[in-house]
Amino acid sequence: MPGFELFGASERKHVNDVMETGILMRYGFDGPRKGIWKAKELEQAICSVFGSKYAQLVSSGTAALTTALSALGVGYGDEVIMPSFTFVASFEAVLSVGAVPVMVDVDDTLTLDPAAVRKAITPNTKCIMPVHMCGSMADLDALQAICKERKLILLEDACQSIGAQYKGKYLGTIGDAGTFSFDFVKTITCAEGGVVLTNREDVYTTSDGYSDHGHDHKGVDRGADLHPFIGYNYRISELHAAVGLAQVERLQEFLSIQRKNHAALKAILSQVPEISFRRIPDPAGDSCTFLSWFLPTHEITEAVVNELKAQNILAGNFYWFNNNWHYIRKWDHLKQSITLNALHPDLKAAVIHHANKDFSASDAIMSRCISTAMSLLWTPEQIKEKGDKIVSAVRKVLAAQKAAV
Ligand SMILES: *Cc1c(COP(=O)(O)O)cnc(C)c1O
Repeated sequence: MPGFELFGASERKHVNDVMETGILMRYGFDGPRKGIWKAKELEQAICSVFGSKYAQLVSSGTAALTTALSALGVGYGDEVIMPSFTFVASFEAVLSVGAVPVMVDVDDTLTLDPAAVRKAITPNTKCIMPVHMCGSMADLDALQAICKERKLILLEDACQSIGAQYKGKYLGTIGDAGTFSFDFVKTITCAEGGVVLTNREDVYTTSDGYSDHGHDHKGVDRGADLHPFIGYNYRISELHAAVGLAQVERLQEFLSIQRKNHAALKAILSQVPEISFRRIPDPAGDSCTFLSWFLPTHEITEAVVNELKAQNILAGNFYWFNNNWHYIRKWDHLKQSITLNALHPDLKAAVIHHANKDFSASDAIMSRCISTAMSLLWTPEQIKEKGDKIVSAVRKVLAAQKAAV
């Protein structure tokens, strides 16, 4: 999964370019920086690699979501439909712009169930935010059709799915805007960073200003820039951008390793008829950062997780159902709306209402799902060993289950 596994000379060289000039900031200092513009260069590289018209780098994936939501005009009174299975950052960003996160069920794609989305739409719905979890995609045709019909904004949280495609287009470039995260465990990393992708000039221009205190960046003198609206500081540094530049150049290399390892592991797990796999709307577009698989029941899945733990091979296998950070079941802070700063009472009530709805349809999916993260460093022998151990743990549990009946 993560680019941090393959660090090397290229990352060092790009960082050294910045260290030579000492200009660690992405804006200004035109003379002393001697032509070194890593953030700008990375934005251009992102546009050309992913086929996005515009890219605005920021300090994290969370900042990218917040910036995109603001740039799209999402705020007070608006509802944003998002999945029950995602990273907490998705609802943090929605709350940070004063909007209501409306969690809805996921289906066997591990992403938004389009039918559940339709049911959740109200006159206050402004935006649908699919989250392309674990390297693969939501059903974008269905979601786009809903957005078109109901005149809603489509914002893709593609933070975990850099390099995945849907029908020939990169995830993140299909909606009104999309985001990637370059945090330390993502497909490509720059330690901390993120990007807003968009084909809309208005969204790019507002993202650009918003992430730098509202600077319009129209003059040559930063001090004389105008501030047409209030912004914040979500800037990326040149040092981070330098690492990102090295990593984006290696994306295809990372993806091809992931795809090879994914195919090998899937072939091994496929020997067990009781194991099924995540439904992928466009299988050719899977970035293969994870292999996500299902067992027949919640009970069997818990038993397999316990068996993997007992055999000391659970590392790298994620049982999201019991995870504190990725699934609604354990988001008690959200369910109780525990914030340090007071929310408007109406917003607080809405947050509590939506976080405490019935998610049994999601539970039925997530309680049977295990996602195995693909390492870039595995040898074919290690994959075989891992796969065989998982298969034997599953078979052991299934046999015990059968004996008990
Ligand atoms: C990682 C992640 C984010 C946030 O990215 P950071 O760079 O860590 O702030 C947002 N959404 C999803 C789905 C993520 O996995």
